[in-house]
This record gives sequence, C-alpha cells and structure tokens, in this order.
Amino acid sequence: MQYPEPIAKLIASYMKLPGIGEKTATRLAFYTLGMDEDDVKDFASALTAVKSDLHYCSICGNITEDDPCPICQDKSRDQSKIIVVEHSRDVMAMERMNEYHGLYHVLHGTISPSAGTGPMDINVPSLLERLKKHDEVKEVIIATNASVDGETTAQYLAKLIKPAGIKVTRLAHGLSAGADIDYTDEVTLFKAVEGRTEM
Ligand SMILES: [Zn+2]
Repeated sequence: MQYPEPIAKLIASYMKLPGIGEKTATRLAFYTLGMDEDDVKDFASALTAVKSDLHYCSICGNITEDDPCPICQDKSRDQSKIIVVEHSRDVMAMERMNEYHGLYHVLHGTISPSAGTGPMDINVPSLLERLKKHDEVKEVIIATNASVDGETTAQYLAKLIKPAGIKVTRLAHGLSAGADIDYTDEVTLFKAVEGRTEM
C-alpha cells in the first residue's frame, strides 16, 4: 500500500533532515497530521522564514536579519579582536559565555582536504579582505573545532595572517579532542579563551 501523496511528500521532506531515516520520518509525518492546525501553520512559516528573513552579514558572515549584523554594528565592542569560528551556532555559544566583547568571523565550514574543501570554498577571502581594510584588528583568535579539519584550518589561517603583523591565537584545549565549540559549556569555553596560546 502506498501513502497518500501529501503524507509521502512530508515523509520525503523529513528524510532530508540529518539523522532522520524513513521510520522516524514516517512517525514525524503522522505526528504532524495529528497536530493542531495553528501549530502546523506556525511550523511551516518558521521553516520558510528561516530562509527568507535571514541573510549572511556582509562583514562577518554570521546569520542576521539586518546587514551588517548587530554585533558588527556595535561600535562599543572591542574592535581589536576577531574570533574565527566554523558556524553561526558557535557565535551563539561564545555570546552565551558573556565574557567576550570583541568581533567574530564565521567561516561556514573548514578546510578539508578529505572532503575537497579549500580555503576559497569557505568564508576565508572575506576574512583576509576584512583584515586588510581594518588595521585596528590586533588579534585573531582561531576557535575552529578540535578536529583534524579544524586544526588544518587553524594552521592555514595562522600562516596567512601572521605575516601581516597580526597576533594569531588558538583556543586552549581544555576542550577534549573532537569537541564541538557549540556543545561546550560556558565555563570550559571561557577557560579555553582565557588560556589561548599564540600560534
Ligand atoms: Zn556581522
């Protein structure tokens, strides 16, 4: 027996999410069918709004409703430091820590020779451009994850940035190997930033 088309389509959509197989997708689709109509409408509009209302900040690459993003617009923030992270959710993690008041740059990935991702495929050119334009930046703190690709990316960036006379530091790894920044608690993250070492 085949499912009616609307259900089949919803199952197929759920299966596009990471970690969702056919069984879970089917369960979610039938759950959705049983949901309150208003809740389903809110869900659907939240899904579309995340694409239509959000953009990437033209300066730092973070997701934002306004361009430049509120962090880049905030002149009271320390303009001499930039923390470089892999993902927007890492910015949220750093901000939750409430101890860092500098700027950010979001790479949207890592350099990964195994996946064939090079520096031009992620947000590296805009970082270099930004450093060239803003000589008030004195330190770039590389906060890519403690994975092989995260390390490769950190080494690559350090090699490019250091000759410009900018200090390049890396988070201290009280973070366990392979740990993701966004899953790290505030205290550990704060210690990692405080204990950062020059590359
Ligand atoms: Zn920004």
